[in-house]
Amino acid sequence: MRRPDLHLHTTASDGIFSPAQLVQRLQRADVTLFSITDHDTMSGLEAAEEAALLRGLAFLPGVEISTEGEAEVHILGYGVARDDAVLLSFFEQMAKDRIGRILAMGDKLKRMGFSLDLERIMASAGGSIGRPHLARALVAGGYVKTVSEAFDRYLGDGKPAYVPREKMAASYAISLLKSRGAVPVLAHPGLIQWPMERILPLLKAWQEAGLMGLEVYHPSNRGDYAKWDRLARQQGLLVTGGSDFHDEDPRHGQLGETVQAWESACEDAWALYRIAHR
Ligand code: AMP
Ligand code: FE
Ligand code: FE
Ligand code: ZN
Repeated sequence: MRRPDLHLHTTASDGIFSPAQLVQRLQRADVTLFSITDHDTMSGLEAAEEAALLRGLAFLPGVEISTEGEAEVHILGYGVARDDAVLLSFFEQMAKDRIGRILAMGDKLKRMGFSLDLERIMASAGGSIGRPHLARALVAGGYVKTVSEAFDRYLGDGKPAYVPREKMAASYAISLLKSRGAVPVLAHPGLIQWPMERILPLLKAWQEAGLMGLEVYHPSNRGDYAKWDRLARQQGLLVTGGSDFHDEDPRHGQLGETVQAWESACEDAWALYRIAHR
C-alpha cells in the first residue's frame, strides 16, 4: 500500500540512518510522502530534500520540539524553512542546552562507576545529541542489553542518572512555529499520561496559541486511534500520523507503520501538505 509517514528521525538527531539512507528505505517501504522531524534541529532537512528529489518522493520539511512544562510534551512543526534565521538561532540555543544536559547525565553515570568516553559519545552524535546516544554507549559498554533497559534503569525520568531539561512551555514552541509560518501539531498525545479532563483544557489553550493538528496515528496511540481521531476532528484539528522511526528497536514504530489503521491517511496527509508546503 502506498503511504505517507510524517514522523521520522535521522542521524541529525537520535535516529540511526542518515537522511539519504532513510529515504532509500522509505522508497522500499512504498512510502510516497514523508516528513523528517528530528528533535530540535533542522540540520537533516537539506539532505532529505535532495534525496527525496532524486528518488521522486514528496517531502515535507519538519521538526520535533521537546518542551517541558508539567509534563514532557513534543510539538511537531511542519513546513519549516530550513534557512529561517529565527528558528536556526532558537535551535542553536537548544543544542547548547542538550550538550549541557547530556554532559551532566554522563557525569552522573561516571560517578555511578560506569566507564564512558563522553568525548567520543559527543562526537559520535552527528547532530542534536540526546539520551539515546548515552543509552547506546551503555549497551556498547555491556552495562545493559538494550536501549530500553538503559532508560528503565538509569536514563528515564526520575531514574538515577536523569537530569531534567530546561523548562519550556509547549505554548511557546507552538507560537514560535506558527509565527514562522509552520504548522504546529501535538505529537503522540497518548504519551502524555494524563486523564482527558486534564488534557482537554490544555488542548484548548494550545489551540489558542496556534496549535493546528493532532498526531492521532502514532504507534503509542495503538488501540486508541478512534478516540483521538474523533477528538481531533471535533476540535477542528488536522489529523496527522507517522511511525516515529528511529531504529529497528520495537519501541519505536517501523517505517510506514500506523498507516494500516489510518484509513484516511492520504487525504489527511494531503490536507496537511497543502497548508504546510510553501
Ligand atoms: P532526550 O531528547 O535526550 O530527552 O531523549 C528522548 C528520546 O529518547 C526520545 O525521543 C526517544 O527517542 C528516546 N526514549 C525515551 N524513552 C525511551 C525508552 N524508555 N526506551 C527507549 N528510548 C526512549
Ligand atoms: Fe527520539
Ligand atoms: Fe517525540
Ligand atoms: Zn519523534
